[in-house]
Amino acid sequence: MQPFAEKLRLAGEDFKRRALDVLQVNLGRYCNLACIHCHVESGPTRKEMMSRENVDAVLRFLARTDIPTLDITGGAPEFHRDFSYLVASARQLGRRVMDRCNLTVIFEPGMEYLPEFFRKQQVELVCSLPCYSEENVDKQRGRGTFESSIRALQLLNEQGYGKTGDTLVLNLVYNPVGPHLPPPQEKLEAEYRRILGQQFGIVFNRLFCLSNMPITRYATHLKLRGEYDDYRELLAAHFNAGTLDQVMCRNLISIGWDGSVYDCDFNQMLDLPLSDGAGERLTIAALSLESVVKRPIIAGDHCYACTAGSGSSCGGALV
Ligand code: SF4
Ligand code: SF4
Repeated sequence: MQPFAEKLRLAGEDFKRRALDVLQVNLGRYCNLACIHCHVESGPTRKEMMSRENVDAVLRFLARTDIPTLDITGGAPEFHRDFSYLVASARQLGRRVMDRCNLTVIFEPGMEYLPEFFRKQQVELVCSLPCYSEENVDKQRGRGTFESSIRALQLLNEQGYGKTGDTLVLNLVYNPVGPHLPPPQEKLEAEYRRILGQQFGIVFNRLFCLSNMPITRYATHLKLRGEYDDYRELLAAHFNAGTLDQVMCRNLISIGWDGSVYDCDFNQMLDLPLSDGAGERLTIAALSLESVVKRPIIAGDHCYACTAGSGSSCGGALV
């Protein structure tokens, strides 16, 4: 496999962050699910959670910049005790707030308030639903996940989510169940719309197609099945230089639960932090915009997962 760095060189790409439009914050690793494709290696036994000090540092950073979007992720970020505080404070600052929601969290004890809270705060929801088939979803995410995801989507629709218009946005996320590239996004979105509409009366705004990242838990899963090398080769063989301009690290930074700063969520999981000239980690508490904009991105062979085929980012296909 040709190193990704070599592809960048051949493409003549100056791989730097262009601007900072999205501040992505990983509130912690705890999750009520433990999906096999999870690059965060989240699950019910994980304990890492962002401190209140770092949550406040995120809000201070937002307040002293004009970054339009706060993108909250985890684990299942809604379990964090400061989740609603972070959302409401960012909304008061006039920012668009996105929550990466696994849907099933809504039925966990103490979480019943979420659908109404989301509506009142006009939180944009990005919800994983890796297939419209129960068998495929339960295979990837655990038994019963499909059924509770469908019930959650129906509840969100009742709150007014997923209708046309740009308030109460409900986007869904597909990722392949096996080690292959996602199908064309538009075609699959039409299929999701038809099947979820006909069978369950569900409506949504957009479908995002993501590639699975062969790192951490998913890498282990692939290795156990003898599929790791082939999947990595497949991603590299489908490298598309046309995606390089749009990958999410071009206009996003990712903040870890401990306040460290990364080019993206994947680099966070691979422990590739941004550091200063002395090799010290940058932290959200002392971060300046100048230290991350126009800065070279730490790329590696894992970047093939973002740049294969139509490309893949937190907002779906790129080209
Ligand atoms: S729901 Fe999301 S965070 Fe939780 S285990 Fe699955 S992929 Fe990971
Ligand atoms: S994995 Fe690589 S290409 Fe993808 S967002 Fe991160 S740094 Fe950018």
